[in-house]
Amino acid sequence: DVADIPNVPNWLPEHLGAEGIESLYPPQAAAVDCGVTNGDNLVAAIPTASGKTLVATLAMLSSIAGPNGDGGKALYIVPLRALASEKEKEFAEFETHGLDVGVSTGNYESDGGWLAGKDIIVATSEKVDSLVRNDAPWLEDLSCVVADEVHLVDDNQRGPTLEVTLAKLQSLNPTLQTVALSATIGNADELADWLDADLVDSTWRPIDLKKGAHFGDALHLEDGSQSRVAVSADENQPAAIVRDTLEDEGSTLVFVNSRRNAESAARRLTDTAEPFLSPEEQTELADIATEIREVSDTDTSADLADAVEQGAAFHHAGLARDHRTLVEEAFRDRLVKVVCATPTLAAGVNTPSRRVVVRDWRRYDGTAGGMQPLSVLEVHQMMGRAGRPGRDPYGEAVLVAKSHDELDELFERYVWAEPEPVRSKLAAEPALRTHILATVASGFASSRSGLLTFLESTLYAEQTADSGQLETVVDDVIQYLTVNDFLDSEGSAHDSEGSTLDGEEETLTATNLGHTVSRLYLDPMSAAEILHGLEETKEPSALGLYHLVSRTPDMYELYLRSGDEEEYTMEAYEREDELLGTAPSEFAEGFEDWLSSLKTARLLEDWSSEKEEETITERYGVGPGDIRSKVDTAQWLLGAAESLATERDLGLGPDIREARTRVEHGVRAELVDLAGVRGVGRKRARRLFGAGIETRASLREADKSTVLAALRGREKTAENILENVGHREPSMENIEPATDVTVDAD
Ligand code: ADP
Repeated sequence: DVADIPNVPNWLPEHLGAEGIESLYPPQAAAVDCGVTNGDNLVAAIPTASGKTLVATLAMLSSIAGPNGDGGKALYIVPLRALASEKEKEFAEFETHGLDVGVSTGNYESDGGWLAGKDIIVATSEKVDSLVRNDAPWLEDLSCVVADEVHLVDDNQRGPTLEVTLAKLQSLNPTLQTVALSATIGNADELADWLDADLVDSTWRPIDLKKGAHFGDALHLEDGSQSRVAVSADENQPAAIVRDTLEDEGSTLVFVNSRRNAESAARRLTDTAEPFLSPEEQTELADIATEIREVSDTDTSADLADAVEQGAAFHHAGLARDHRTLVEEAFRDRLVKVVCATPTLAAGVNTPSRRVVVRDWRRYDGTAGGMQPLSVLEVHQMMGRAGRPGRDPYGEAVLVAKSHDELDELFERYVWAEPEPVRSKLAAEPALRTHILATVASGFASSRSGLLTFLESTLYAEQTADSGQLETVVDDVIQYLTVNDFLDSEGSAHDSEGSTLDGEEETLTATNLGHTVSRLYLDPMSAAEILHGLEETKEPSALGLYHLVSRTPDMYELYLRSGDEEEYTMEAYEREDELLGTAPSEFAEGFEDWLSSLKTARLLEDWSSEKEEETITERYGVGPGDIRSKVDTAQWLLGAAESLATERDLGLGPDIREARTRVEHGVRAELVDLAGVRGVGRKRARRLFGAGIETRASLREADKSTVLAALRGREKTAENILENVGHREPSMENIEPATDVTVDAD
C-alpha cells in the first residue's frame, strides 16, 4: 500500500491516489524493500511501462526530505533532450507541495547557477558532465542522482559520458544515492556491482505481453497460439494487422527503419485507417491537421497533416517538436489510429497501443556497412509499448515474416531471445580523449596513475579483467593531449609512451587552452582542428567558418547522395580560397569527409542567406528538425571557436561572431542587429528592413504605424516587439508586458 512507504513526504499517498496509484507494483515494492527510500543505491532493471518513474520519484522525494529533514537535491539524468521536458512536466506536479523543479539542457558553458535554488533538476548526461567541468557549486548539495535508461552506457556516442559522469558524481560525494533505471538486459547484475547497488531485476509487467510474428494469414504468438489475420489482395501485412486491430477498436504502432519509410508507410496506411473514422473524429482530426500545418510551411508538415486527417501519422526525430507532441497527443486520445515510427519513439515517450508491429528488423548502418539487424534490446523495447493497462486484456507485439524460414529466424532471434548484455564503450579513443582531459582539468586526477585509479570506478573497469588494454589507450591519449598543448606533464623523465622511467610519478595539469576546451565541452580534436584552421587566416568568410566547424567530430555530417560527390568537388575547387586549413587531395582518404562537411556548410550558408526552410529541406534531403539541430551545433561550435581565437589572441572575434549570429537567426549580415530583438526573427527582420527600419536604434525611434504596416497589421506582435526593443514613444507606456512571442509564427 502506498501509505506504508517509509521516509516519503506525508502528502505523497494522497497525491498518488489522485493519479490512480493505490498500491505499488511488485518491482516497486521490491525497490522499497531494498531501501530505495533509505538512501541506498539501486539498479532497477524492469520492462518498459512497468513504473520505473515511480521508483525514481520515491528515491528523490525521500532523499530531498532527508532522514532528519536535512536532505539535499535530486538530479534526474535523461538520455535525450526531448525527454527532459517530458520528465520536468511530470515532476512539476510536485510544485504544489513546495518543491522546485528545473530543467537544464541549454548551452554547455555555464555552471547553471540558477539551478542552485531547485530541489529536482532534470538534465542530459552531457549537460551534467559540463556542469561538473564548470564546477557548479550546488553539485555538492546533491543527495540523490537517478540515471534513466542506464542501459545506454552501451551506446558508442553517449554511453561513455554517462559512465564517467556517474563516477565523477560519486567521487564528489561518496554518500550520494545512485538509482539507475534500465530496460531488461542480460547483465543487470554487472551494473549493480559497478554502482555498488542492490538490484531489482524483474520481467513483471502491469499487462501481459504476447510477442510473436505475422506470417501467411495468422499471427503466431510465443505461447503457441495463432490468431487469424488474413491479408487481402490490396493490402500488405502491416495493413492487414492494423485493419484487424481496428475492427476490434484498437490502435497500432508500426516501427520501421527510416524516416522516409515512416512517412511512406503512414501514407499507405491512410487507406486502412480512414474507413474506421466517425464523423466526429474526422472533424477533430481536421482541426489537428490545421494545427500541424500552422507549425511550419514545409512538405513534411503538409504530408503529416494529410495523413493525420485520414487517421494515420508518422513520427521521427526529423519532425519539429510541436509536430511530435501533436501526434503523440492525438494517438493517446485515440483519434489517430496508427502511428508509423522510427525507434526513437520507443525510447521513452509514453504512447501505449493495443498492438505493436515491428515491420523492419534491419536498419542501414553506415559504420558497419549495409543493413544490420536491430538488437534484441531495441526490439523488445519497441514491443514493450504494446498493451494499455486498464484498457486491453493484453498487448500483442509482432514482427513481420515474409517466409517460413524468416518466421523461424525471427522467433529464434527476437521472440525467444534474451536481451544482450550491455558493454562499456569507454575504451574508444574519442571518448577517452574528451574525458581524460576533463578529468584532469576538473581536478579528479593529476597523474597517470591517478587517472587509472579514477577509471577503476567505471563500468569499463568492472567489465575488463585485463587492465593492460586501458593503460595503452590512456597512454596514447595523454600523448595526443600533450602534443596538442592541452595537457602539461612535468616532474620526471618518461619514455615515448608517457610512462615514467625512474619510478617517479609525473604530474599532469591542464594548460589554459586545455581548461578552456574542457569547459567549452569540445572534443579536443575539434579544438585542434578549429585552431589549425583559424591560425592561418586573416579574414574568414562565413562559409569558411561553417566548413571548419562542420568538419570537427562534434558535428554530425550530412551524407553524400548520388551526384553530390561531383557537385561538391566542383564547389570545393570554386571556393577553395574560402576554405580554411589544409584540404586533403582529391584521392586521399579524408576527401569524402571534406565534401560532406562542405555540404553541411552549404546548408548553413543557405540558412544564413535567408533561403526558405522548404528550399533547404528539399535541396539537402533533410527534415526541418535537422536544420535546427545543425544550426544549434554550429552556433555552439562557433561560440567555442570565438573563445579559442580569444585564448590565442588571433583577433578574429568579430568575423566569427557575425557568422555565428547569422546562423543563429538565419539572416544575412545586414539583419544581424534587428534579428536579435526578441520576437523579431528572420522573416520579420527582413520586412522591417524593407520598410526602411534597418537597425535596433531606428526600430526604437520608429513610427508605430510604419512598424505595423511592415508586420502586416499584426497589432499585438508589433506592440510586443516595440516593447522588447525599448521603444520610446510616450503613448506606448500603457502596453501590457511582453509575453513570450513565438518567433515568426507566420
Ligand atoms: P516506465 O518509466 O517504466 O516506462 P512509467 O513510469 O511511465 O513506466 O509508468 C507507466 C504508467 O504506469 C504510468 O502511466 C504510471 O502512472 C503508471 N503506474 C506506475 N506505477 C503504478 C502503480 N503502482 N499503480 C498503477 N499505475 C502505475
